[in-house]
Amino acid sequence: MSWDKSIKESVKWYDNMEVEKYEYTVGPAGEEFFKGLKQGKIIGCKCSKCGKIYIPARAYCENCFAKIDNYVEIKKEEAYVDSYTIIYKDDEGRQLDKPIYIAMIRFPNTVGGLLCYAEGNVRVGGKAKITSFDWPLRVIVE
Ligand SMILES: [Zn+2]
Repeated sequence: MSWDKSIKESVKWYDNMEVEKYEYTVGPAGEEFFKGLKQGKIIGCKCSKCGKIYIPARAYCENCFAKIDNYVEIKKEEAYVDSYTIIYKDDEGRQLDKPIYIAMIRFPNTVGGLLCYAEGNVRVGGKAKITSFDWPLRVIVE
């Protein structure tokens, strides 16, 4: 008996998830990243096998699967806007007084990026200056 033949219709579960807050550990690499934020630093990691630099820091290289424990400080002044979106309504559909810009910022010659609240002249390729290292970060785009 295979799974496909035994299931005539999709299995459904009707219930409510009563979750007010999620908490999870960030792991050793995430901890280095968040400790860096508290010091006003962007911490990534560099794979010693293939040389790729990841932001935020992570435990394993997704390119060559090598374990990474080589943390590096990223030049935060090189941040730029890779993409962004504009939010006009809250999660209940009410119009916001002022739209919220959420930008994906990246850094040259690195893999990954960081989602941030953005202000200023938000545009793809714009230079992003980090104005707050509290999570999520805030940037102003020049
Ligand atoms: Zn690698």
